[in-house]
Amino acid sequence: MREQVCTYMCPWPRIQAAMLDEYSLTVTYNDWRGEPRGKPVKKAAPDAKPVGDCVDCKACVVVCPMGIDIREGQQLECITCALCIDACDSVMDKLGRDRGLISYTTLNDYSTNMQLAGQADGVIDPRKVRDSAGQLLPAVKHTDWRSVIRPRTFVYFLGWAAIGVAMMVVLAMRPSIGLNVLHDRNPLYVLLSDGSLQNGYDVKILNMTPQPRELVFTIEGLPGATLAGPGLSDGGAERLEISVEPDLVLPLRIYVRSPDQDLPPQSDFTMTITDGTATASTNVRFEAPEKQE
Ligand code: SF4
Ligand code: SF4
Repeated sequence: MREQVCTYMCPWPRIQAAMLDEYSLTVTYNDWRGEPRGKPVKKAAPDAKPVGDCVDCKACVVVCPMGIDIREGQQLECITCALCIDACDSVMDKLGRDRGLISYTTLNDYSTNMQLAGQADGVIDPRKVRDSAGQLLPAVKHTDWRSVIRPRTFVYFLGWAAIGVAMMVVLAMRPSIGLNVLHDRNPLYVLLSDGSLQNGYDVKILNMTPQPRELVFTIEGLPGATLAGPGLSDGGAERLEISVEPDLVLPLRIYVRSPDQDLPPQSDFTMTITDGTATASTNVRFEAPEKQE
């Protein structure tokens, strides 16, 4: 399942593939020195066919979290974790051979080395990249850190840095408190015994800071209206004082009562929450009965 998510759902490989060029570092199996693969032999016969450095131990396949064989070339599934590089390097160490049979390489360097090792019939001859002492020829290209310093990588760096800065600015400017209000669907209003009208609301207060907050809840735009709620001071408060724990969403049941019996069927007013430094407001509707003609 994890591989399926990486392959089909994660957008990163698509972004990465779009940014690659022939000078980009990618995890590469250097078949110009690895092929033809085969089990190591202590002493090769004089007429034996050339054998590359890959001993076909499959350590690189076993460690791959995506279950692919990098020796088959670049594949969409590769997440560039480099586990196959480490696995192969440890095999090369045990065999006393040069590290880097699987390595970070550019397509440009890989192609140059393939031309060195290639024969007219397209078959790789790994002896062509080594001298008589078995050392890699000076003409063999080795990719190093200098290949990452290019105008294109600077442009990418600046682009990603700008995105990172923009995200930090948005994070720093995000509100530290929030207020979500949902009016009761049914009943829309209740006529109380004293003749006043009551509307009920489900209110959620968000404290997005790691400190507890003492907040004041008020309403504006509904003259004479008062607030009440379970666990809150009942009996006509025009403001409520509420404590909210750190990083918490506090659900509240709040009733707004209006003594004005001549209100139109729908009146808009504002609920506000503040601690003096930060404020959150939302527009809310107060429902009243239709007037009989
Ligand atoms: S780990 Fe190295 S030697 Fe072993 S199969 Fe993979 S490429 Fe070949
Ligand atoms: S870099 Fe990681 S995902 Fe890609 S072939 Fe190697 S082990 Fe597999």
